[in-house]
Amino acid sequence: MAVQTVASTENAGNAIDLGPAAALSCRECGERFPLGPIFACATCFGPLEVAYDLPGGGPAETEALRKRIEAGPNNIWRYAPLLPVPADVATKPNLNPGFTELVKADRLARELGVTGGLHIKDDSGNPTHSFKDRVVAIAVEAARAFGFTTLSCSSTGNLAGAVGAAAARSGFRSCVFIPHDLEAGKVVMAAVYGGELVGIEGTYDDVNRFCSELIGDPIGEGWGFVNVNLRPYYGEGSKTLAYEICEQLGWRLPDNIVIPIASGSQLTKIDKGLKELISLGLVEDKPYKIFGAQAEGCSPVSRAFKDGHDVVRPVKPDTIAKSLAIGNPADGPYALDITRRTGGAVEDVNDEQVVDAIKLLARTEGIFAETAGGVTVGVLKKLIETGLLDPAGETVVLNTGDGLKTLDAVAPTTGPSATIRPNLQSFREAGLV
Ligand SMILES: *Cc1c(COP(=O)(O)O)cnc(C)c1O
Ligand SMILES: [Zn+2]
Repeated sequence: MAVQTVASTENAGNAIDLGPAAALSCRECGERFPLGPIFACATCFGPLEVAYDLPGGGPAETEALRKRIEAGPNNIWRYAPLLPVPADVATKPNLNPGFTELVKADRLARELGVTGGLHIKDDSGNPTHSFKDRVVAIAVEAARAFGFTTLSCSSTGNLAGAVGAAAARSGFRSCVFIPHDLEAGKVVMAAVYGGELVGIEGTYDDVNRFCSELIGDPIGEGWGFVNVNLRPYYGEGSKTLAYEICEQLGWRLPDNIVIPIASGSQLTKIDKGLKELISLGLVEDKPYKIFGAQAEGCSPVSRAFKDGHDVVRPVKPDTIAKSLAIGNPADGPYALDITRRTGGAVEDVNDEQVVDAIKLLARTEGIFAETAGGVTVGVLKKLIETGLLDPAGETVVLNTGDGLKTLDAVAPTTGPSATIRPNLQSFREAGLV
């Protein structure tokens, strides 16, 4: 199938089975299009998102849905009735991510002065050790439905690894694109699964621009770019974070959620997921606040929030939090709108604070986060210090990636307490105990 950049009716009447997904709809003007590998509205060029025929919110239907979810597999497919995937998705070869641990973080809470309960949603436990396995798993099912044979993406690092692994498991070829100067852990992870990995001399935003060009070229025919022409489906994967957090809290909404922002897709779709749970009656409606976290060296959304602007002005990234280094975030304005509408905020921390927060989380909870997790925990700390987040509320913080992929961030300031000769006297002399 030829890759298209805007909507057409090519799939109209075809049996594209993506479960409850009914159509794509434009986030700006609301126009609807048939399900297909398209991402921009033909009328206004607004971004498209998946629209559903979901069950009604009556008490009997809600109870049946809740039971069905709870009886499902311990991965994102337990939410298949709410995702753009076929009903038999759990039987297909896929990495089956999700249902990661929600860690009750009492020791970190004490350290930060959170009294209303603090939880870490630890997505480092996914198959390729970042939250990206969620979004890729959904994009894989869309790629299968549309007959693509190659999976591709523009990546800040984690996505490339997630696509490489998912392609290997699911039987696609893969060709992924990254900025040439990523961390060794991310580069090795992206290459080891055997697909093509291409480093591009430039920033993520250059990589993304290149991929948009590739989509329009005959070379890109038959290619599913998970975060470009499959972006509406990809984005839906992040809703599973909202579902899991609420289910793991006992089908309740938290008061505050702190989420890192790269393109802003994750934050936007977590909000979409929470709203679905409310409208389906799976959780009781109450106000919740969404907070965004960025690194100071790439903080276009935080800047706009603080300046009171609706426009997110692009920046040139310079931060150790490379997985969040998107200078021109596609969903930035939507993320901005959600944080303002819910009464949250967007904040940023510098590289030193990122490293301190990685160590704080490791020391208090035994979780080794990548730099993005350091950004999020660092921002939580700052939000409490500045009074923007109420420590008496129940708060969930996302750790979206694994510290083993960004060892260089902490290696210079972390190491053995002592190096000794193998005898007691030498150990005593080291003065550790
Ligand atoms: C991609 C990524 C994010 C955020 O992604 P969005 O583009 O905002 O959806 C957060 N953390 C890590 C570790 C990531 O790799
Ligand atoms: Zn439109």
